[in-house]
Amino acid sequence: MPNVLAGGPRILLRRLREIMAEPASAQARLDKLVMVIASNMVAEVCSIYLRRASNVYELFATEGLNRGAVHRTRMKQGEGLVGLVGETAEPINLSDAPSHPHFSYRPETGEDPYRSFLGVPIVRGGQVYGVLTVQNRTARLYDEEEVEALQTVAMVLAEIVAHGGLFDTSELDEPELRADRPRAFRGEPLSDGIAIGRVVLHEPRVKVERLIADDPQFELARLDKALDQLRASVDQMLTSTELDLTGESREVIEAYRLFAQDQGWRQKLRDAVRTGLTAEAAVERVQDELRLRIARTGDTMLRERLHDFEDLARRLQRHLDGNVEPQRELTKDSVIVGRAMGPAELLDYGRERLTGLVLEEVAPTSHVAIVARAMGIPLVGNVEGIADNARAGDLIVVDGETGEAQLRAPPEVVRAFNTRRSLREQRAAQMAQVRDLPAVTRDGVHIKLMMNAGLLIDLPHLKESGADGIGLFRTELQFMIGETMPRLSDQIAFYKRVIDAAGDRPVVFRTLDLGGDKVLPYGRWEREKNPALGWRALRIALDRPALLRYQVRALLCASAGQPLRILLPMVSDVAEFNLARALIDRELERGRLLAQPQPKQTFVGAMLEVPALMFMLPQILRSADFVSIGSNDLLQFVFAMDRTNPRVSRRYDALNPAALTLIRQIIRSAADAGGDVSLCGEIAGRPLEAMALVGLGLRTLSMQPANIGPVKMMVRSIDTREVGEFVERLCGRTDHSLRTRLTAFAAERGVILK
Ligand code: PEP
Ligand code: MG
Repeated sequence: MPNVLAGGPRILLRRLREIMAEPASAQARLDKLVMVIASNMVAEVCSIYLRRASNVYELFATEGLNRGAVHRTRMKQGEGLVGLVGETAEPINLSDAPSHPHFSYRPETGEDPYRSFLGVPIVRGGQVYGVLTVQNRTARLYDEEEVEALQTVAMVLAEIVAHGGLFDTSELDEPELRADRPRAFRGEPLSDGIAIGRVVLHEPRVKVERLIADDPQFELARLDKALDQLRASVDQMLTSTELDLTGESREVIEAYRLFAQDQGWRQKLRDAVRTGLTAEAAVERVQDELRLRIARTGDTMLRERLHDFEDLARRLQRHLDGNVEPQRELTKDSVIVGRAMGPAELLDYGRERLTGLVLEEVAPTSHVAIVARAMGIPLVGNVEGIADNARAGDLIVVDGETGEAQLRAPPEVVRAFNTRRSLREQRAAQMAQVRDLPAVTRDGVHIKLMMNAGLLIDLPHLKESGADGIGLFRTELQFMIGETMPRLSDQIAFYKRVIDAAGDRPVVFRTLDLGGDKVLPYGRWEREKNPALGWRALRIALDRPALLRYQVRALLCASAGQPLRILLPMVSDVAEFNLARALIDRELERGRLLAQPQPKQTFVGAMLEVPALMFMLPQILRSADFVSIGSNDLLQFVFAMDRTNPRVSRRYDALNPAALTLIRQIIRSAADAGGDVSLCGEIAGRPLEAMALVGLGLRTLSMQPANIGPVKMMVRSIDTREVGEFVERLCGRTDHSLRTRLTAFAAERGVILK
């Protein structure tokens, strides 16, 4: 190969650009491309394989192999050397290809005489679009410069293919590869509300217009200058009196400075420029490689590092561009999409034109999330890959309630979200009206409406919803979102925040309800054949008592001087409950011996989720201070209906006469035993179901905070005696569902069901 700086790849790249501009058909241009690449690289064969649906690499053009094989030869992902390059997204350089275990002989190609093989992936934005290969008869390894050169050509090809410069990418039959296809992302809902608007990229990727350098020496000089400026600007951040960095933020920027000075990075960038790319294209190319490499390792530490490099690369692009200030102008209904953001940056954008925010990395308790909630801006966080996929001006729908972000949403999706948004607005207006009104029925019965929660982000809903307290705090959620088991001190601090937020209102802490569909991201979990009936909740707690005791210790400590309510999940048998209660008593005793501050009173309740416990209600109520019906699990077991299986989870209605009779039975026997019973499953939050439950005699219901308003409106519009008599009559019927009858009753009596 000639010295690359002397012109080899540069001339080649220029030729490619010219071929691209020709008015010929796509196939004719591809055919020409392979011919030019082959001759420039002194290769006897050059082929382009592009990825089609189901990850199949199809031969699209070749110089040197049989033309008849074009569009006929196909390799699956991982199949043959081409499939292997596609799968690993790494170049493969072999002096004796046929002896490689992955070599797959395709007679139609006539590739028998060729021994040496070099294949490089055609990648862009972390996606593999295809594979570019060269082959020679003589057995030889291609040298480093040749590999680099072919990668550079592949990068240009990727750009051409992705932007439809060659042919309409829909022809590839792989919608996933089209840059303009609609894409649905899912993340974490961190600030409520629905936003529909146009994407504004936060620190947008500088669009690299010029890929091929006219003068490589000049590009090298530009790169070096921009790198020096970048370093100086990072140094300046550290000495800036305006920023006045201290503590953690200083450490972060100091680590960041080390990355800016990384010699390996500098070298890679310079090498990429030497192959004939512009400085901007070199930055892109090095980032693409880094992204792919890190994505494959799956190492979280490296991922963190990647974000620093991404940030640096963006800054470096801005220095190359001479545009050091990040863009701040918004148009009406802008939705900011970015990787990460600080609270001040969000404030910079202002509330007026900003309607939504989507970030790839943000913790629920981060300052930017707090500011977004304070500003009332819907935020979806931890949306993987959106910043690379979004383009400025794309239409986007953000749902801060469910965590969805629909990029380039089709019109029907936008329509559906518009409807949802106006319904939400109506509901919010009604909610605000009833929030401070008491949940009292027309005949003067007070119904306690509590909310279910599990994370700190739920806490503001306590005030907003007007809930009487937290009737179910699912503590396992906190354990499920972390990467390691929370330490005792973290648990104490967490429970304290919940208790403080609730103020005078009661909080019922359910101990860890793990197992079933709730597994921890750490620790070893054995797959079970029937997880719902398996090693779950209290069963785990009794077999691993340290887990329960630690959690109880944290709860006791966090509730010093206040009443503490503990709820044990999945109690199947009174003896098991007693064992758990004894463990709690031991912790209380330990606290007393150590003279630690104690809760004012400790109440321990049992969840009624396992049908067996129904037959032991009088007995359990002698040991338990209260019982909470977990109707989600109870109905799953009673109807033998897997709640996680969509084919059956709605097969039997909670308004089935058996379900109502069963709940009536529980309420009666609890009343006979003088016990306190409430319900905290999903049905508590549905106004029609809640009406039936109140009719059956329940006086405390715990539900999603958003349902409190609608249920309160229902409560305020019913007469418990009327509903009670009606439901009593329904219990004797044999309908599959009593929904229609209950709905008709509600309509007749003017019950509000929103
Ligand atoms: C239930 O089973 O009704 C319940 C409230 O618990 P979870 O949904 O967390 O299993
Ligand atoms: Mg349950």
